[in-house]
Amino acid sequence: MIEICTVGGYDEIGRNCTAIKVDDEVVVMDMGLLLDKYIVEVDDADVKNISAKRLLNIGAVPDIRHIEDWRKKVVAIIPTHAHLDHIGALPYLSSKYNAPIICTPFASAVLRTILRDDKKKIKNDIVELHPNSSYKISDKISIDFINMTHSTPQTVMVAIHTPYGTVVYANDFKFDSYPVLGKKPNFEKIKQVGKDGVVCLIVDSIYAKAERKTPSEQVARDMLQDVLMGTESEGKAIVITTFASHLARLKSIISFGKKMDRKVLLFGRSLAKYVSAGEEANVIDFSKDVKIYRFAHKMRKAFKNLKHPEKYLIVVTGHQGEKKAVLSRLARDQFDFKLRSGDHVIFSSQIIPSPVHVADRKILEDALKNRHVRVFKDIHVSGHASREDLRDLVNMLKPNHIIPAHCADEKAVAMCNLAVEEGYVQGESVHLMKNGQRISFE
Ligand SMILES: [Zn+2]
Repeated sequence: MIEICTVGGYDEIGRNCTAIKVDDEVVVMDMGLLLDKYIVEVDDADVKNISAKRLLNIGAVPDIRHIEDWRKKVVAIIPTHAHLDHIGALPYLSSKYNAPIICTPFASAVLRTILRDDKKKIKNDIVELHPNSSYKISDKISIDFINMTHSTPQTVMVAIHTPYGTVVYANDFKFDSYPVLGKKPNFEKIKQVGKDGVVCLIVDSIYAKAERKTPSEQVARDMLQDVLMGTESEGKAIVITTFASHLARLKSIISFGKKMDRKVLLFGRSLAKYVSAGEEANVIDFSKDVKIYRFAHKMRKAFKNLKHPEKYLIVVTGHQGEKKAVLSRLARDQFDFKLRSGDHVIFSSQIIPSPVHVADRKILEDALKNRHVRVFKDIHVSGHASREDLRDLVNMLKPNHIIPAHCADEKAVAMCNLAVEEGYVQGESVHLMKNGQRISFE
């Protein structure tokens, strides 16, 4: 019998975690952070002193007490990609299980970087599995890592094969047939898995309400080209900020920097962290083209020496207006480099709509506007599937059951409604789950 416990990420966006029990063995998919709550905690304390118990109590990590009775049965922990809402709780929780972590080389490199930086240790072995490959976990359970596109490299959809049929865990993904970095989604494999019979699909439903197909990363690349090369910037500084884990976006930024004959400089700890993980996993090779400043004293020196800012493309952290990130500090004049009237600041991102981020971004944008900096926002496309992508996935897999994930409330309802449009029945074959609930399939 297959039993699924929706541990985290079903009442909120974040702290993703789902446990799948096959007779007496359990695989745990993702162990992520709820970043809003985690960041508040980290701001007040030294990261290496934060306990798992504290994070559990404030709800910053998945509440694994829901699966305490399954603890000794866990045979694998499988994060699908390197985003912190999927891997960020591993340093705090994974050692409670006597099981390996199975993930792609890039997710592994990011995890090891986090452990090193935060001075944390975990007991689990890390097994690296490339996208589009398979692994036998036990006599009863084997997995396929199906290559997917998303906003960070080496993201996989996982097919968990059991004697009772296959469970597909699709969290997160988009269908991008024209990716800027990495391969296309493996549609052939998805269709094959669908033909062989899928018991249950657990699916990223954050944009189930958005009636569209999510545009390709190629579209974001075109938008970047337009804003970088199609605006008047001669003699002006150009500062650009994006998600540090979005290496495809950084790849586009670097290539346009070269075309514009501007040297690309990367400022900020998290940019340095993801670029070094990407190079370790052989998914990128940026170091030959860019200069990266990770530590505060090196950044200060580099900004001080920036006598001709018009010769550079300056990439910084801080797209959400985070007060400690480089862009907010630039706007507060904390470096010996001043943004001047007419300089460009480009946000290759969208605002994460949480009150903290919205307030921080407003402070940042007001500071930029006060000095007459030109601000270009929303040069971005999402990394998540929209309604019509989700419909395609459902029809390729034709699962017996569907569980919306990575969502809450109206987003989950939107995915349920989509399933109903495709012939599923609410409560019978499409299931609106909350954190901590269980469902079983014979
Ligand atoms: Zn993600």
